[in-house]
Amino acid sequence: ARTLIAGNWKMNGLKESLGEIRTVASEMGKAREGVEVLLCVPATLLALAAEAAQGSALKVGGETCHPKASGAHTGDISAEMLADAGASHVIVGHSERRMDHAENNETVAAQAEAALRAGLTPIICIGESLEQRKAGETLDFVASQIKGSIPAGVDAEQIVIAYEPIWAIGTGEVASVEQIDEVHRAIRARLGERFGPEKADLIPLLYGGSMKPDNAGEILAIDDVNGGLIGGASLKATDFLAIYAQA
Ligand code: 13P
Repeated sequence: ARTLIAGNWKMNGLKESLGEIRTVASEMGKAREGVEVLLCVPATLLALAAEAAQGSALKVGGETCHPKASGAHTGDISAEMLADAGASHVIVGHSERRMDHAENNETVAAQAEAALRAGLTPIICIGESLEQRKAGETLDFVASQIKGSIPAGVDAEQIVIAYEPIWAIGTGEVASVEQIDEVHRAIRARLGERFGPEKADLIPLLYGGSMKPDNAGEILAIDDVNGGLIGGASLKATDFLAIYAQA
């Protein structure tokens, strides 16, 4: 699979933060073969971020989208709107959205479908809670999320999956290489059952959760890891570029 180094700014960033995007765009250099670099930013910044990234290989994306293209949904933003603002990708099903907005697999599949309808690549997020890990339910849970969150009828080439163990998000507690390796293998196997092994190999599997410049190298070296979804460390251009340098 191709590699994707993606940042998720979450609910962070004002216009004054656009300098970080300009720095990433100017310092990252020419696109490396097979490696994509993306910053997903709040919708308020998307058009400005796209402008800041113009002329570089840096792509910009949204952090969620509504399943519908338009309509009476006050406060929501459609995939078409994100595309219009310059997005190439959109994160769907992040654990924070699943929790804060009660999004379930069905919602996430509908959002992923909306992304594809609008010409965006959905980054579909999955990952277990600490309780589920302690109960030994991780692989079953992640399998059920894959089953439910990937819309019917999609091609393997159209999607990206991000594995983000909830207990490793924003906690500084990164999953171990063994833990990541185990889950990513299991995800690839489930995708293989759905798409066939060759197609499944084309799907970028990102790891997310306290990824930083000092742990990115060993994580990105894991066989079934094809990149990262980076929260906190994507807010600073220097940290984000230092992770990209290890991809
Ligand atoms: P952190 O890198 O801040 O742990 O966040 C990970 C994440 O949730 C990315 O989507």
